[in-house]
Amino acid sequence: MGNLTHVVVQFPRVWWDDGMLKWLSANHGSNQSRGEFSLWHNLNHASLLPGSQTLLTFLGDPQSSLYEGMADADVRAALMRRLRAQHPRTRIPDPLSFFISRHGYDPNTHGAYSFFEPGWRDKYFATLTRPLAARCGAAQGGEEVVRVRLAGEAMCDDLSGYTHGGYQSGREAAAAYLHGAGKGPDPRDHDELSLCNW
Ligand SMILES: Cc1cc2nc3c(=O)[nH]c(=O)nc-3n(C[C@H](O)[C@H](O)[C@H](O)COP(=O)(O)OP(=O)(O)OC[C@H]3O[C@@H](n4cnc5c(N)ncnc54)[C@H](O)[C@@H]3O)c2cc1C
Repeated sequence: MGNLTHVVVQFPRVWWDDGMLKWLSANHGSNQSRGEFSLWHNLNHASLLPGSQTLLTFLGDPQSSLYEGMADADVRAALMRRLRAQHPRTRIPDPLSFFISRHGYDPNTHGAYSFFEPGWRDKYFATLTRPLAARCGAAQGGEEVVRVRLAGEAMCDDLSGYTHGGYQSGREAAAAYLHGAGKGPDPRDHDELSLCNW
C-alpha cells in the first residue's frame, strides 16, 4: 500500500494571507526536509471554512509513514519548526489543536491506496481479482459457484489509487454478477462496464 497523510492544525488567530486558497513554501534546511510540510491549504478561506483558523497539509511517502509512526507531540513540534522556518519574519502562535491521520496504522486500510512495487506484472491482476468460487451440492463435489466477488480501488487495474476506481470496479463486479445470473448484458460487450481492464 502507498500512504498519504492529512495534517490539520488550528491556530488562535489567522497569521497568514487569508486571501490565498493554498500555497507552496520553500523548504529551509537539509535535503531530508524536502516535501515536508510544504503545500498548505487555507481552510479558513471564505470559500471553505471561514472562522476555522485552520491549515491543512499532506504528507506523502516516505514522510507519511515516518510521521505517522511518531507521537502527536513530536509531529506537532516538527511542523511548527518548519512553518516558522518558512516564515522567518512572522510571529506564529502555538496551535490550539492538531490532528494527523494514520491510515498506515489502521488495520482496516493499511495505507491510503494500492501501490505496486517495481516487479509487479500487469497479468497478476487476473489472479488478484479472480472471484472466489466453491463447489456446492452433492456433498460439495458438485457445481462450482462464485461466492465472493472482489471490488474496490485496488481491484481496478486502470483506475487504481482513486475513488472513481473503487466506484468503477464495484459497477463491473455487479455487472458480472448480473450477467452470470442471466439478468444483464455481457460486460465484455460494453465499454462502460470494462474500464478497469481496458
Ligand atoms: C489521505 C487520503 C487522501 C485521498 N485523496 C483522494 C483524492 O483526492 N481523490 C480520490 O479520488 N481518491 C483519494 N483517496 C483515495 C480514496 O479514498 C480511495 O481510493 C477510496 O476510498 C477507495 O474506496 P474503496 O471503497 O475501494 O475502499 P475504502 O474507502 O477503503 O473502503 C473499504 C471499507 O472497508 C472497511 N473494511 C476493511 N476491512 C474490513 C473488514 N474486515 N470488515 C468490514 N469492513 C472492513 C474499511 O473500514 C472501509 O470503510 C485518498 C485516500 C486517502 C487515505
